[in-house]
Parts: sequence; C-alpha cells; structure tokens
Amino acid sequence: MIVLRVALPLPLRQHFDYLLPESEPVSPGCRVLVPFGNRELIGIVWQLQPADHYPAEQLKTVLKVLDSAPVLAADLRQLLSFAADYYHHPLGEVLTSALPALLREGKNADPIRTVRYQLTEAGRALDEQQFKRAPKRLALWQLLKTAPEQAQLSGQFSRTDLNYFLELQYADAVALPYGPYTPQPETQKALPLNPAQALAVSRVTQSLGQFASFLLDGVTGSGKTEVYLQSISPVVAAGGQVLVLVPEIGLTPQTLARFEQRFGVPVGVWHSNMTDLERFTVWQRCQTGDLAILIGTRSALFLPFLTLQLLILDEEHDASFKQQDGFRYHARDLAIKRAALLKLPVLMGSATPSLESLANVQAGRFFPLPLPERATGQAVPKVELVDLKQQVMQAGLAGLTRQRIQQSLDKGRQVLLFLNRRGFAPALICHECGWLTECQRCSAFMTYHKQSRQLVCHHCGTIKAVPRQCGGCGSTQLSTVGQGTEQLEEQLQLLFPNVTITRLDRDSTRRKGSLDQALQQIQQGEPQLIVGTQMLAKGHHFPNVALAVIVDVDGALYSSDFRAPEQLAQLLTQVAGRSGRGVEAGTVLLQTHYPGHALLQDVIQNGYASFARSALLERQYTQLPPYIHLALFRAESLQLELCQQWLQQLTQLLGAFPALQLLGPLACPMERKAGKYRWQLQLFCKDRKVLHQALAQAVATVKDWPLSRKLKWQLDVDPLDL
Ligand code: ADP
Ligand code: ZN
Ligand code: ZN
Repeated sequence: MIVLRVALPLPLRQHFDYLLPESEPVSPGCRVLVPFGNRELIGIVWQLQPADHYPAEQLKTVLKVLDSAPVLAADLRQLLSFAADYYHHPLGEVLTSALPALLREGKNADPIRTVRYQLTEAGRALDEQQFKRAPKRLALWQLLKTAPEQAQLSGQFSRTDLNYFLELQYADAVALPYGPYTPQPETQKALPLNPAQALAVSRVTQSLGQFASFLLDGVTGSGKTEVYLQSISPVVAAGGQVLVLVPEIGLTPQTLARFEQRFGVPVGVWHSNMTDLERFTVWQRCQTGDLAILIGTRSALFLPFLTLQLLILDEEHDASFKQQDGFRYHARDLAIKRAALLKLPVLMGSATPSLESLANVQAGRFFPLPLPERATGQAVPKVELVDLKQQVMQAGLAGLTRQRIQQSLDKGRQVLLFLNRRGFAPALICHECGWLTECQRCSAFMTYHKQSRQLVCHHCGTIKAVPRQCGGCGSTQLSTVGQGTEQLEEQLQLLFPNVTITRLDRDSTRRKGSLDQALQQIQQGEPQLIVGTQMLAKGHHFPNVALAVIVDVDGALYSSDFRAPEQLAQLLTQVAGRSGRGVEAGTVLLQTHYPGHALLQDVIQNGYASFARSALLERQYTQLPPYIHLALFRAESLQLELCQQWLQQLTQLLGAFPALQLLGPLACPMERKAGKYRWQLQLFCKDRKVLHQALAQAVATVKDWPLSRKLKWQLDVDPLDL
C-alpha cells in the first residue's frame, strides 16, 4: 500500500491521507474519488508516500483513481500551491477552482474525439464566384479551407450553411482527436511598425524562452494591439501557444476576429458566459496544444497548455483581474508568477498603468516599453472642463455642453455621454418629509428603474415594486433624486427629439450578444448619441465619435478610498481615448463643480503619466500600497457585536507582531450588505515576509476559535476594495 496525500475541495487548510494498493498506478495531479464522512468527494493527489510510518489501519482507502494522467500538470500545481500560500486560501479550493466544472464533477478527462469538417476535392475546387450572393457561405468555405479547426466551434456559422456543404459533398465530417495545431502562414499582412512599436516587439520576441516582465505603456490609440500581434507572430509560426488575458468587458467578437483573421491558426476564448461543455472543450484544446491562441478573462490563467510561450495581459490596470470573492487572487500577479515558473515573457499593456506596475518599473522589476504617440498620428483628444456652478442645467447638461453636442451632431458625428450610474435615479425621495427609498438589507439606497417599474438594490439584488406612497408619512409626493443612465437617455430624447439614441449599461445589455450588437452598430455610425456606464470606457473603437461628455465625476473627487484618484484618472483617460479615433481630433467635456481640483488639473494639463508620478510620490509619503503591503480581514454577521468581538480578538492576536500597523476594527464602507454587518481590520506592513508570517499564524489560530464558527470571515491579501 502507499499513502496518498489528497487535497479536497473543502474550506479546510489541510491535506487528507488515504491508502491506495500499490498495484494501482497514480501520480500527483490526478483526481481520486475518496470517502469523506458519509460523503464521497473528488480530490487531487498532492503527494505519494510510502505507508511505512503510518498507522495504516486508521486510514481509509481511495475508492477510485479517476485519471491515468494528471489533470493538473506540475507547473500548474506549483503555481496553485504558491497561490494558496500567498493568499492563505485552502489549497483544495484553489486547486478545484482551476478545473472546469465537468472535471470537478468527475467527467473523464481523456482527449475526446471531435467531429471536424474538411473540404472534399470538389469542395476545394469551388471558387469565390459561386458564393456571390451568399457571403456567409463564402466565409465558411474560406474558413474550411484555411482553418478547419475553427469552423465548428466559432459559432458564427449556421447549421444550414454547414449542411449545404455536407449535402452537396463539398465537405466531409471526420472524427479527429485533439492534438497540436499545425502552424499556418499569416493570412493578413502586418502593419509596418513605428520605431517605438518596433522596439517593443523586438524586446519581447528577444526574450522568448526566458522570464521577463514588460509594461507596454502606450497612450490610447498607440497601437498596442499591433505590438501584441507581432509579438505573437514568431510564437505561432513555430507552433507555440499564447495566452492573452483581457478584462471582463474587453472580450468582444471584434477582439477575437482581429486575432483569428491575422494568423489563420485556431484561436479559443474563455469567459464567464460559456456552458460547462464549452469550457471543458476549450480546456482540452489548450491542454492538447490544439489551440494556438487563447483569449480569456481572469480565470483563463489556470488553463493547462502544452507549450505556452508568451503571456499577454491587456488593460493590466483593470480591476476585473482581481477576483473579489472566495479565492481572492490577482490574475496579473499570478500571471507574472506563472511566467516566471515557465520561463517565458509576460507582456502587460495599458494606456493607464496601475500604480503598482509603475512602481515595479521604478524598482527595475518590469521593463518599460513606452508608446508615447498615437499610431495613426492623430492628436490625443483635448479635455475641457465645464464649470457647473450656477449653470442652468437641462438633462443634467450645462448650456455649453448642450451646444457642443448640437454642433457635433450637425457635423454628422456621434457623441458619447458617459455616466457611471445605471437605472433612472439613485433613489426616490418624499417631497413632504424627506423619506428615502433605503434598502432594508444594505446601507444603501434602492435605485429607481423606470422602464421595469422597480426599485432595485444594486448591492444585494433586492427588487421591490415602486411605492405609490411615502413609507414615512404616506404622502404621494414622491420624486427622484439624482440621475442615472436611463433618465439621461430619456431626457436627451426630449432635448434632441429627432436624434437616435442608444444606451449601454448592464440593464440594456443583459441579453446574450446584445452588447456586441450594440457595439457593432455604434461602429457603423448608427445611433447619434450613445449613453453608457464604464462599459463604454474600455478598449472599443468608435471611429465616428469626436466628442465625449463625462456627465458627473464630482462624487469620485472626494471619495474616502485611497485608490479613488487613480481610478478616476484612469477613467478620464480611457474615456478620452474613445473619441477622436476617426477623421477628426477628439474633445472631451468634463462637467464638474470643482474645475480647480488639483487632480483634474493635473490629468488634463499634463496627462496620466504626470498624474501617476505625483500619485506615486504621495503614496510613498503617506505609506500606502504599493510602498507598503496591505491585507485585510473582513467579518460578516447578522449580529454586529460578533463581528466586532471577532476582530477585537484578532487585533490582540496580531499584537504579537510589532512590525504590523493595524487599522480598525472599523466598519466597511458599506456597513450592511444583504442583511449582514461587515467590519474589517486592515494590516499594513513594510516587510512582506513578516506580514505573511502574521497572516499564516492568524489563519491557523482563528480556525479553532468557537467564535469563528458563528460568523463568516475572509482574508483579502493585496485588496483592491477596502
Ligand atoms: P491601442 O490598443 O493602443 O489603443 P490600437 O492597437 O487599437 O491602439 O491601434 C489604434 C489604431 O492604430 C488602429 O486603427 C491600428 O490599426 C492603428 N495602427 C496601429 N499600429 C499602426 C502602425 N504601425 N501604423 C499605422 N497604423 C497603426
Ligand atoms: Zn440591498
Ligand atoms: Zn413622506
């Protein structure tokens, strides 16, 4: 018998030992089915040990070995075990979060055979003329010719089009196992690079085969994507694989198309809106080397690859790279770790790099690759402040703003209006007594949604019918406070009656594919006014937009979060980058009551880079991240006293580490959420090692406290949200 040390998907920070007859082959990284209490669980084999020193009679026996080869290869196990240590999260949960659901549930992981479509002799002999009136069939035919792997999975083709080829015997269905893709000549010409781009590409490609971290710091429109593409080119020409991580919202069909059209090799995607089977298939195609390029959101970082050679992270500053619940990892930081383990370069790009990454450049850990100019030679948009003080407002817009919108429309241009608040109004108020529509379960107001006739809490999801009467005095004099995107859209239509308007926010794009559709329409110049939340600010190309309006930033100027200025500067710069990408130089109008505010002045006059320099200095003086390490414990309970008591106990425990600076216990910015109180303790420390020693000890100790069982607690290492 041998003893298997198994990681189980449990919130427990320990391994479990099981016996296995020596005759059964198994290796670390394989799944096993084991008895646990009166349940059966699927775990991952972590270590094999001789049974000599064990009281074997006390151990249970493995019920079944599920894999003949590891589902988690050595490199991923190394990465995940590092992550479990660094984030002080139970290893079993970390491991299983890296597996697709079907594997967690025990599905067979052997490479499946897949049905693919191949052109027959007759099919290859067809020519373009035959598809004159059938552009979709033409596209399918071309794909079958150049990249048959993609034809059945890209989902862009209807079954009818495919059947056309099958029925006329222009194509055959064949069953092939997944395996390494065959490199193809590039299907689209590369752009001639400008010197800054060329330098960036050559730095990255020279580093292939070794670990290096690059920060591609390029203003919006500087051609970062072209740098990515040309850095990828030698890798896929040689049969290597590339992982491209993008923010949640940046993964549009346009992004995908840009990569597919360029290389003619199989490109896969990975995001939250996929079925379990789709995910499993992608997982296999990565593992077998069938996909050359994988474009995915955060968790794609944990996909297995046969021969990964380059890692790219676009919009590296984006907060969606940080997982905000459960296993709270930062995909950027783990991407760097993965690159280091595999000895490959990681290329991180942004027009507005995070202060963390800029500090890494300063410290010599990241190599900077600046792209200071727009690739098309266009001027970077001008940002103008519109002073709102004492202005007559209509639709939340000052006179000057309305004028400029009209001028832009007269010239046939589209205008973007940016307001980071969805719904009609952030609350309803009673005109008689001042009563407000508060959420009963959160320290927040309920947003009024006019179209769906609902009050919605954006924090816990509670939905209520719109009240006819005040909940305090019974008056029917209820009115709205503040303005959301829904209201802006409605009022704009009154101001500009003959103009087409579209709205992009989470409410208007709930239906699958509707966001892509809307983006495509905007690109084609269709709606004249576009109202949107931060969805609009990210990475999209709107060639006919020359004016962007930021309707309201004042709230963010005086936020208590130390990251608020950074986020605001990023937002302003990103929104500005959406305009003036076409024929005309762009303008951004920023409405504010505080035009003299130092932050606004700095970003506008001197640009993001200058803002970032002074913000970094400030973080250094005030001893905030990235110059100090931060972690926080959060306690959640229906009973406030339990949270406070638990954090109090924790404070005492951590008192043993004088190098730690503790802040709290204090209420989270939103003290109540979904009925529960939320309190926190922040830990600052100059020495990362000491901080992690303290965290490890705290985590090991609190699990035995009786109090810990009465509430929910979490640890967030390098938190983004305080
Ligand atoms: P970013 O991602 O940096 O905002 P993009 O990669 O989207 O910028 O490029 C902006 C525009 O510049 C695109 O239309 C792209 O085709 C064009 N472009 C990029 N590189 C070059 C180049 N070397 N020469 C000419 N145009 C370029
Ligand atoms: Zn709520
Ligand atoms: Zn009232």
